Amino acid sequence: MQKLKKHQKIFVNRSLNMGSIRSLGFDMDHTLVLYNRVNFENLAFHETLKKFIANGYPEELASLKFDPNFVIRGLLVDRERGNLLKVDAHKYVKVAFHGHLKLDKAARSELYNSRGFKADDFLTVDTFFALSETQLYIEIVDYMRRNPGKINKTFGEVYKDLREWIDLSHQDGSIKTKVLMEPSKYIVRDPHIVETLVKLIDGGKKLFLLTNSDYAYTNEVMKYLLDNQHEEFQHWQDYFEYIIVSAGKPNFFTGSNPFYEVMTDQGGLLRLHRGPLVPQKVYHGGNAILFEKLTAQKGDQILYCGDHIYGDIMRSKELFNWRTFLVVEELYDDFKTTEKMQPEFEKITDAIRGEELLTTEAQALRSDISNLERRQKNQKKAKMDESKFLTRVGELRAELKVKEDLLEIQHKAIKELISAREKAFHPVWGELMRTSLEKSRFGKQIESYACLYTSRVSSLRFYSCSQKMRSYRDLMPHDL
Ligand SMILES: [Mg+2]
Repeated sequence: MQKLKKHQKIFVNRSLNMGSIRSLGFDMDHTLVLYNRVNFENLAFHETLKKFIANGYPEELASLKFDPNFVIRGLLVDRERGNLLKVDAHKYVKVAFHGHLKLDKAARSELYNSRGFKADDFLTVDTFFALSETQLYIEIVDYMRRNPGKINKTFGEVYKDLREWIDLSHQDGSIKTKVLMEPSKYIVRDPHIVETLVKLIDGGKKLFLLTNSDYAYTNEVMKYLLDNQHEEFQHWQDYFEYIIVSAGKPNFFTGSNPFYEVMTDQGGLLRLHRGPLVPQKVYHGGNAILFEKLTAQKGDQILYCGDHIYGDIMRSKELFNWRTFLVVEELYDDFKTTEKMQPEFEKITDAIRGEELLTTEAQALRSDISNLERRQKNQKKAKMDESKFLTRVGELRAELKVKEDLLEIQHKAIKELISAREKAFHPVWGELMRTSLEKSRFGKQIESYACLYTSRVSSLRFYSCSQKMRSYRDLMPHDL
């Protein structure tokens, strides 16, 4: 097997034998289909902003700018206070903003870190669709901060309005229609997706599509992605054994909705479906219990690929033991930065070791000084000559001062190295899966719920359909 770069690799949290996987399911948006995030989120941001103004918010909000780089996935939104938080795996708030105002350590401690923190009280930015809405929320919060009294609502009320109008923008077609009118502006075709799907089919795997998008949208997007790209698979439906739209995940995994057949030749009319699912027909809704029953597959024979840790991965793994494959698009760039920053990472490790050594040496000097002083004070006999004693203590104190000064320099250097490394990933929030050097909450969730993770579905093309994906032994801090 060729030596792969990090952004091409699949990483294993839980070992998996591809040979025992009978079918692979795919989510559509941000899994099979990638979006041009700047164009797409800009569109969502402005379509929703229009609804704010149309509903009586100040007209000058129209000048708010979309910034594709301000919000990243994995952050938490404190809707009541108008704050955006990055939290580590131990629920400690490491970075916080109120609008665009960065909160200092004292404010973070007062609001969050000095009390019990329930992450569930906050909203997680875990889908790509949530990025633009979160940024819009933060922009409005910032406007309220700069213009007190102009919007007579609480931050919580503003968030409720946002939620309603974002949903409306998705439902009333203001976003989707524009995407479908100009797919090349909004959709990015992964150049290796066809090759990847064909390789899986040739390897004996059955593929299915399980998406929350409705039929009309799915059909157009999938046509754009897959139609006429391969001699034997002319139509996108040809790649999939089963096709399920409007699945309503995560409720697909917890609910009991029936399957409806989408009458694709009758304008998408729905007809209640009974009996086994028929290959290449399109179904609407349904639930996982029925899916397993109607397709005679179960649990660990299914590998489901999605981008949403909550909607795609958590429930399918917990309740059905489906094996899970998380696509984390951002890792494509993050991994390139990781490789570039490897020498910096080594510098940080060396600097931390140096700091530990200095700390030990300074502690030894402190012990020597206090031993000497205690002996001088308590011992009647064999007391050191007073001037010799003072000279010796003076020497030790001078040595200690040198070490302490060095420690301070070292401490500052480490902080600067870590901060420079974080900024290389993202100027505000740092690395997606870390806060400083520790795991972020998002990083920990990926580790807990995804059997496999990677930056693109098409990474699968590098691996055999019977590959044993092995997890390296779990490393504990004492292993390093
Ligand atoms: Mg998705």
